[in-house]
Amino acid sequence: MVLTDLSRQLTAAISKLNAKGGVDEDAVKSVVLDVQRALIDADVNTALVAKLGKEIKGKAMAAVEDEEASGPAVARFVEKAVASSLVSMLTPARKPRKLVRGRSNVVMFVGLQGAGKTTTVAKFAHYYKNRRFKVAMVCADTFRAGAFDQLRQNASKLRVPFYGSHAETDPVRIAREGVAAFRKDKFDLIIVDTSGRHRQETELFREMEAVHSAVEPDDVVFVMDSTIGQAAEAQARAFSESVEVGSVVITKLDGHAKGGGALSAVTATGAPVIFTGSGEHFADLDPFEPAEFVGKLLGKGDLSGIIRAMRETVDEGEQLAMLRRITKGHFTMRDLYEQLTQIGKLGPLSKVMASMPGPIAQAFAGMPEGGGQDKFKRMLVIMDSMTDAEMDMPFADLMAAEPRLRRVARGSGAPMAEVYQLMAMAKQFSGILGKFGKMGLMNGGDKKLA
Ligand code: GDP
Repeated sequence: MVLTDLSRQLTAAISKLNAKGGVDEDAVKSVVLDVQRALIDADVNTALVAKLGKEIKGKAMAAVEDEEASGPAVARFVEKAVASSLVSMLTPARKPRKLVRGRSNVVMFVGLQGAGKTTTVAKFAHYYKNRRFKVAMVCADTFRAGAFDQLRQNASKLRVPFYGSHAETDPVRIAREGVAAFRKDKFDLIIVDTSGRHRQETELFREMEAVHSAVEPDDVVFVMDSTIGQAAEAQARAFSESVEVGSVVITKLDGHAKGGGALSAVTATGAPVIFTGSGEHFADLDPFEPAEFVGKLLGKGDLSGIIRAMRETVDEGEQLAMLRRITKGHFTMRDLYEQLTQIGKLGPLSKVMASMPGPIAQAFAGMPEGGGQDKFKRMLVIMDSMTDAEMDMPFADLMAAEPRLRRVARGSGAPMAEVYQLMAMAKQFSGILGKFGKMGLMNGGDKKLA
């Protein structure tokens, strides 16, 4: 998980209170100190940590002043205070630009060489392609030998059209021509990768400005390496002074201790972090939402990410029909089958599934990526050996029909325990989706269900 140490230290600090009967001011002070230490270890700016400490203590003391307050009650209060303070620390002054299909969004990527820009361009393309955007890439990096081939290979793996040239040395010309061609062909998202060079220098900024005026991008995404920690702030400011940085992607958050510093430092510049990078694969790009991120940091299973991803990938008509069935208590195995296949498209399963609570996460917990994939396939195989009638009956009826389940287990070669696990998953899915549907959080959820 991202920022594992910070997460572990924060939850350990708060859970100390759980063990106590009565809680006094000293106990709160000591927890706040632990929280501050954890943030300093994650390279968060000391002035910011001091401010957060005061804020958390102020909020938490309100709970202690209640004479009856028990340890667990205060722990919950402190946890809430920590969460809301961290969320406000990570909420940027500016909102990111939202990309919509049906028009040509030109997005220019900038950042220093080695930051992970070219990799992120591919991940970004993959992300939007999965969300049904018609995506194309332009390589305007004529400086780094190999940039052209790296991007072209990624484009071909992703089956995304690519524009670039080995021979042309003028990045402005390539950018202009590539963007014009893809605009003409009505691509929804045209990604322009630019040169990074090796350090912040006049030449780099001049080139960035020239490409910027040639393509007039709708957004400029600044890609930054999180391992530089707090130094992120100065770098983000330097880039922002040269071109108008609309959003930021912070890379290499996988397991790196300084990620907290980079995240908070960038937020301090006002630019919104839109994604974080967590590995070298196409799917290792996570949308960044402060509340969701802090929830995970504090060890809370959080569904908003997966619900958002479903909302983007699953057809609205399908969702409404499914919600209708769920509210009538008619969730079926076919619904689960469709949901699982959709989820399969979203990214590495171990990651997606780990963000689900209860039996679903447990079924996939601690599995390597490939292992999760195998388990997932087995679930689909079990469903493949169900008859149409079984796939379409309310799953509660199927769950009660043990002879049917035994036959399914025999037919698919799976142990009964796995069939039951699948049933538990179906039950939880229907609960979760039903709840979110009623809350109107899914697409069209606010529309009337007939
Ligand atoms: P560029 O020079 O900015 O275009 O950087 P590249 O995209 O070539 O990336 C530099 C190195 O960082 C490569 O080895 C990438 O595989 C690696 N990298 C990029 N993003 C991530 C990330 O989120 N996590 C990890 N672990 N490595 C990354």
